[in-house]
Amino acid sequence: MKPLRGNRNQCTACNERFNSNYPFEMHRIGQHGVDRRCMTKEEMFAAGMSLNADEFWISETKEQRKRRSREYINAEESTGTV
Ligand SMILES: [Zn+2]
Repeated sequence: MKPLRGNRNQCTACNERFNSNYPFEMHRIGQHGVDRRCMTKEEMFAAGMSLNADEFWISETKEQRKRRSREYINAEESTGTV
């Protein structure tokens, strides 16, 4: 198998591929040694995760990230001295 570049990784349990460690950690739910398992695709979509153009799971879309950073900037501005 070709090595995955950067932070990209593939889950050995469900074979889904992830764009970074963050969405990978997100899809592992339950408690270690108790009911640890992978989320299903439906659960991942429900959690706000999505697939990027290369079909790697991401924790949020570019649009969501952009909107979040805009909200952050707005929050910064509102707390600053006016
Ligand atoms: Zn998995």
